[in-house]
Parts: sequence; C-alpha cells; structure tokens
Amino acid sequence: MRIAMIGTGYVGLVSGVCFSDFGHDVICVDKAEQKIDMLKAGEVPIYEPGLDVLMTKNVAAGRLSFSTDLKTAVDGADAVFIAVGTPTRRGDGHADLTYVMAAAEEIAQAVTGYTVIVTKSTVPVGTNRKVQEVVAAANPTAEFDVASNPEFLREGAAIDDFMRPDRVVVGVENDRAAEVMAEIYRPLYLRDFPILTTDLESAEMIKYAANAFLATKITFINEIAGLCEKVGADVKEVSRGIGLDGRIGNKFLHAGPGYGGSCFPKDTAALARIGQDHAYPMQITETVIRVNDEVKKRMIEKIRDACDDRLNGKTVAVLGVTFKPNTDDMRDAPSLSIIPALIGGGAKVRVVDPQGKAEGDALLPGVEWCDDPYAAVQGADVVVLLTEWNEFRALNLTELAGSMNSARMVDLRNIYSKSQALKSGFETYVGVGR
Ligand code: NAD
Repeated sequence: MRIAMIGTGYVGLVSGVCFSDFGHDVICVDKAEQKIDMLKAGEVPIYEPGLDVLMTKNVAAGRLSFSTDLKTAVDGADAVFIAVGTPTRRGDGHADLTYVMAAAEEIAQAVTGYTVIVTKSTVPVGTNRKVQEVVAAANPTAEFDVASNPEFLREGAAIDDFMRPDRVVVGVENDRAAEVMAEIYRPLYLRDFPILTTDLESAEMIKYAANAFLATKITFINEIAGLCEKVGADVKEVSRGIGLDGRIGNKFLHAGPGYGGSCFPKDTAALARIGQDHAYPMQITETVIRVNDEVKKRMIEKIRDACDDRLNGKTVAVLGVTFKPNTDDMRDAPSLSIIPALIGGGAKVRVVDPQGKAEGDALLPGVEWCDDPYAAVQGADVVVLLTEWNEFRALNLTELAGSMNSARMVDLRNIYSKSQALKSGFETYVGVGR
C-alpha cells in the first residue's frame, strides 16, 4: 500500500513509521519545514522511546520518507491519513477542526485514482462526513471514500501500543474502503489483534468515550484519595483492594496530581461541548473536568502547607514537569498550573526533568533548570515529586535530605512511603491520599 501521513506529530510520526515497518510505502508530510528538515537528517523532533531506531531502519529500507509537499505525497496514494492537531478552540471548549479541514481541502486537490481519506485525529462525531463534503466540493471528480481510524497510542509507549494494540477501530461506509483499511492493518489481523469495524459515527464516538472513561477513572480515585486523607485511609491500599476486582481492573487507579496531557483535558472538554450542542449535558464528564481542576488546586495547597503556609522566600525543588514520564510533551501538564502558582506565591522554583527542558523552557518562565535531582534540592525547603520518571524512583533519600535546608517531601505520585522518607532524615513526608 502507498500511504501519505499528513501531520508528523506524536501520532502521525509514530503511525507513519509503524506503517512503514508493516511493509507499506509511507510519505510523512508536515507543514513545519523545520520538522521535516530534522526528519530528513535522521533526527526525531519528539522524544518517544524506540522511535529513532525504527525510523532509521525503515528509511534505510526505502519505505519511509518525509516531505513538506503534500501534493506529491498524496498523488497516487491508496490511503491518506489526517493526523493533524485538534486542540481546544479558544473560548468554547470545542475541538478546533481548522487544521483537519485545511488538510482535507489540500488533499482534495491532490488525490488521483481511488483513495481512502482516513481521519486519525481525534474529532467530534460528524467530522468525517464534513471531510467527505469538503473533499467532494473542492474536487467533484475525486474518487474517494472517508474512514475514521481513531488512535489510542499512549505517548511514552507509543510504538508498542501501535504494534500491539488492544484494538484497532475502523469506521467505514462501504466494503471498498474497508478492504483498503484491512490491507493496511493486515499484519495486525494476522497476529490476532482485534480490529473493530463500525460506522463512521460510532468510531468517532468510541475515541471520546474511551478518553472520557479513563479521565473519569483517574478522577474517581483522586477524589477517593482526598477522602482517604480526611478519614485516615491509604489510597494505595484502596486502589489495590478495588483494582483486584476484575470488573474494575487495576489500571488508571493511581492517585496523583490530576490528569493533564495532550488528550484528556481537550477531549473531555470537547465531549462536554458535543453534549451541550445536542441539549444532552454530559453530566459525569462535566463533573470530572471540574473535580480535576480542584485536584490540581489541592496539590498547590499541599505544597503551601509543607512550606508552613508561606511560599514567599521558600525554595521548592520540583522533580518532573512533563505530563507523564517518557515523553517531552508539556501540553496541559499539571506542572503548568502548579509551578506558576508557587512562583506567584513568592517561592523560588528549581526544576529537573530528563526531557522537559526543550518544551518547558518557554512555558515555565522564572524557574531555574537543574541537571539532576541532587543539584535541584541543594538548600531547598521542599522537594516535590511531580512526574514519576524512572530516574526519580530510586533516589538516595538520605543524600537528598542531607543537602536540603529543611528536609520536606511532597510526593504527588506516591513513589516513596512516609516511613522510608522519615527513616532517611526527612522531617515531613506528604503523599496523595495517605
Ligand atoms: P501534534 O500537534 O504533535 O502534531 C500535529 C502536526 O500536524 C504538527 O506537526 C503540525 O505541524 C502538522 N500539521 C497541521 N496542519 C497540517 C497540514 N495542513 N499539513 C501538514 N501538516 C500539518 O499532534 P498529535 O499529538 O500528534 O495529535 C494529533 C491528533 O491525534 C490529535 O487529534 C490528537 O487528539 C490525536 N491523538 C493524540 C494522541 C497523543 O498521545 N498525542 C493520542 C491519540 C490521539
């Protein structure tokens, strides 16, 4: 199959590279010249474990290339994937479809022969039909079908998720498009990964329902964590106790600083908005959004409390700023609301993150970047564990405590235990829900 992948962000680049590894001929297109220049030079513009190796392998095999020229990439392709961003539209919570529709118009001008135009971006129900209309209007003679193929990969584990998915969802309107999609995903069919073929609307809805459910699960345990603190229970025990129930499952039950990232905040906002547009308020999702905001505020209170209620003049060392480990993605990371609040309260903030500096530098003005946790805590009043990178999981707590001005730990990921911290010389340890 010949595939054009429009958009080489976290989803487009991983998908393009993995499709080429399936044996397809893939051209990845992006408007950002700098990204394409880097990719042509063999550099990966994002941090995603394993992506560099797989990319180099498939470029060398002649199956994978990069271009800013959408027209040439789309010309003669069997399938064109739209994997551009769908951020929250300013002001109203809707998914901003500007990039998707602009790509659809450009694709319309460039298609030759029968082509399946596949939307991989997360888009509201009805968008694939709009894409269909836009393409038909821009090029009435184009021979094409649309397909919805939402992506479920997780940043930080994206290649494994793409190559060994829990399921692939394909929304189509006819057999012809279904056959092209089946051919593209044939290596996964052969290995018995479930491929779910639906109509367009159901496929679009599955993506939002999945993300809203996961955001709800996280928020549920975060709310339980708050109550655990009031009643003297330990949320880690509670998570384990409920997670062993097969109907509940143990994933997404780790209490923490509230969900963030490139998907959950914008997708829950978009789903709530879709509900409002249909006069069918998504009450659970709307509550989840509100509770998650409160969770983040509670984290700021925890840090303030650890500073004896006075941030002014204190030095806070923050370990981890990306929204989760193994990515450089800072979009809607909890650090972006927590750190400015600390600085606003007069604290001096030092941060360390294995991959976050390139993105985080501009987003976190006023922080001091350090190279390692031990340097960050020198003379600090509080250390805050914000992102659970492996690098922060086995720190020498005695050394940390010994170099701080006052040895206080706020562990927003529950990596350590109170007894461990106190034994190592910390005077206070505060976790989440314990
Ligand atoms: P991203 O912002 O990292 O990448 C989007 C890319 O598209 C950018 O490089 C941009 O320059 C490019 N682009 C925009 N318009 C273009 C055009 N007309 N032609 C060519 N290139 C164009 O976004 P992302 O994180 O990869 O997300 C893409 C979509 O996938 C979103 O809808 C998102 O919700 C969804 N998604 C993301 C994830 C994730 O973990 N990031 C997971 C599942 C689904």
